[in-house]
Amino acid sequence: MHDVIIIGAGPAGLSAALWCDELGLDTVVLEKNERSGGQLHSIYGAIENYPGATAANGQEFFEKFSQRVDDAEFDLWTNVEIESGDLRAKRVRLRSGEELQAIGLIIATGVRRRRLGIPGETEFIGHGLIESATKDRQEFAGKDVCVVGGGDAAVENALLLAAVCSTVTLVNRSRTLRARPEFAQQLPGNHCITVFPESHVLKILGAGEVEAVEIQRKEALKPFQMAVQGVLIRIGVEPNTELFSEQLQLDDDGYIAVNSQQETSVANVFAVGDVCNPLAPTISGAAGAGATAAKVIASRLTRR
Ligand SMILES: Cc1cc2nc3c(=O)[nH]c(=O)nc-3n(C[C@H](O)[C@H](O)[C@H](O)COP(=O)(O)OP(=O)(O)OC[C@H]3O[C@@H](n4cnc5c(N)ncnc54)[C@H](O)[C@@H]3O)c2cc1C
Repeated sequence: MHDVIIIGAGPAGLSAALWCDELGLDTVVLEKNERSGGQLHSIYGAIENYPGATAANGQEFFEKFSQRVDDAEFDLWTNVEIESGDLRAKRVRLRSGEELQAIGLIIATGVRRRRLGIPGETEFIGHGLIESATKDRQEFAGKDVCVVGGGDAAVENALLLAAVCSTVTLVNRSRTLRARPEFAQQLPGNHCITVFPESHVLKILGAGEVEAVEIQRKEALKPFQMAVQGVLIRIGVEPNTELFSEQLQLDDDGYIAVNSQQETSVANVFAVGDVCNPLAPTISGAAGAGATAAKVIASRLTRR
């Protein structure tokens, strides 16, 4: 029996764990990946909006976070596969057969990139699927690429790629782009970028490497193939809630519903970070929510 089980070791889970540690709670953190840090490992650009600390990229930021984590006394288990959980009992069963139980449970499972679910989307990872324009763009210099999406991330990546690529085709399912004006206003003057509104990428094609995409445009009767050597997909994110979605109240978009103390609909089960924060997913928000949950649990334990 532990005081607290934390599921997920991104900024939210690690912040909660550090606070639990400071408050003297016996804490175990369960992380499914080989290493902690969550989305920090996907940030290739500079982080300049966290009060008191900047970093050239997420890796550098993670290293700063880790210095403190390494000194803490909570247990961090990585490569853990959770088979099931009983939230009312605060009990978690691992694929290895082990069972853990605690007084409080904190869900910090974050979000994952939404997928198109089309042929080629997984097959071409490392063979023409672009993970990040910041990281990969030099590899695609002089090439033709396709970017799927119409939000900030899609348009920002299209602009970065346009600085080095021969052509960038931005395929957006809606009539208008959702990206903030700062990004969207740069598109009309950019001769390298063509926007296909109300269009869908149906397939990514190629023999070993990406060679083309099949696109359906609204006004066209039939799909057509366009030669490209790279594809970058940015169609938003979705919360990692499937483990507990039937035991918890979710909002209309599938994010965990919480109150101002980060409490979910189940007593002494908390959610922190992006998994419950669709509007302002940030490192500082995740860290703050982690602190709140830890402090609320600690205050309840001392009152027992
Ligand atoms: C490209 C990019 C740039 C960004 N730039 C900034 C920025 O400049 N400033 C800023 O403030 N924010 C930025 N963010 C957002 C920021 O990274 C997130 O808000 C933050 O990482 C959220 O932390 P989290 O702990 O809630 O979730 P995550 O970072 O998503 O971590 C969740 C963790 O839970 C684990 N997990 C998931 N499911 C399970 C499970 N079933 N069992 C065990 N573990 C599980 C995951 O493996 C992961 O380690 C950026 C994000 C991206 C992708």
